[in-house]
This record gives sequence, C-alpha cells and structure tokens, in this order.
Amino acid sequence: MRRKFLIFALIFLVIPVLAIVSVVTIRITGPKLFSNATFIVPCEHNAVGLTIDDGPDPISTPRILDVLSDNNVTATFFIVGMRAEQHPELLERITHEGHELANHTYTETVTIALNEVELKDSINKTHVVLSEYQNIKWFRPGTAFYNSDIVEEIKSYEYQIVIGDIYPFDNFTSSSQFHSWYIKKLVQPGSIIIMHDARERGLATAETLARVLPQLKSMGFNVSSLGKLHSACTMKR
Ligand SMILES: [Zn+2]
Repeated sequence: MRRKFLIFALIFLVIPVLAIVSVVTIRITGPKLFSNATFIVPCEHNAVGLTIDDGPDPISTPRILDVLSDNNVTATFFIVGMRAEQHPELLERITHEGHELANHTYTETVTIALNEVELKDSINKTHVVLSEYQNIKWFRPGTAFYNSDIVEEIKSYEYQIVIGDIYPFDNFTSSSQFHSWYIKKLVQPGSIIIMHDARERGLATAETLARVLPQLKSMGFNVSSLGKLHSACTMKR
C-alpha cells in the first residue's frame, strides 16, 4: 500500500512539479544562459524534432526503428561512439532508413567532467566512427551540460550543440502514458523531443513513440530528424 502510494506520488506529484521547473529552466533560462546551444528552433510551421540518445542497442534500437518506420517518421540518433563500434549493422540500418546520426561522445559519461585529453579523444573517436556513414552535424554532451572547453573543442567539427526543450523524464519513469502526456502537453512549433535508447529505457521509448506519434500527427505536427526540422522551419509560410 505504502509502495503504491509512493509510486502514485512520484508519477502524479513529484514528476509534474519537476517537469514545470524543467520547462521554465529549459525554455526561459536555458537559451539566455547557453546561447551556443539549440533548445527549440524558431518555427512558424507545426514541425517538431525527434532526438534519441545513448544507442545503438541491439535489443531496443531495432524496436524503435520499426515504430519510426510504421509511422513514417525520421529521427536524429545521438550515438555513443563505443556502442557504435560494437554494432555497425545498426548504424547501417539507421542510415539506410533515412535517420540522422549525431555525436553523443564515446562512452556517455558526464562530458564536463572529462579532462582536455579525454574530451578531445571522446569527441574525435565518435566523429571518426560516425563519419563513415554520414556527414555529422549535431553534438549533444553526456547529461546535456557543457562548458566553454566543449564549445571550443567542437569548433573544428562545425557541430551545432543541440539540447532540446521536451524531456519527458524517461530516465526516471518508464510510464509511456506519462511520457506521451508530457510530450503532448508541451509540444509547440520547433520543439525538440529528447528520449533515450538502450536497455529498458529504449523499449519504453519504442512504446511511447508507438503511442504518441499518431497522436502528434492528429494534432497536426510533422515529426522529423533535426535536419528536416531546420529545413521545415526556414521555409516561408
Ligand atoms: Zn546520454
């Protein structure tokens, strides 16, 4: 009984409060403090970006790709370099099905905690492995925090740092009902959704996408990879 109450409190009280705080932080404070990063794309069209971090994963990535294909949606996969080396077949499939690959460092640790040599190495090794498949344009540091060393380091790659504005707390709850509700509540033109791949979180992402993508479509939103989002948003009305 007590356990049930705690779960109930977490889903319906604590997470919504955290969600409101996070939205205020990301949408208002974030772009002011972190002007090098994209949180949301200025957009006059009902276009939304979908980004998926931490893969590829042999169990969950194929499930996510199946759901994207069923809904005719493309996404940007922020890839962990080490996992990419272990699963080249998944990078082939992601590329073949029209999705984007993006750099999410080599081991997915807290990027701001890396020293200069580790940072260089982590970004470069991931860049090398991903560049065999595509021209890589986007970077998202592990845990999304970054500093001026990271901004300096990615300059030579001409990456753009992308954070996003809709993070449905999928690292904290696996409730796809909650994720979907959260995404639908907050979505606006130019929004960038952040979800996670790998292990159970990846399976929850597949479930959430199967639920929310048709709903977003019926709300009139066109969901796509970051490249397509940028193209859609620069189009004149
Ligand atoms: Zn990550």
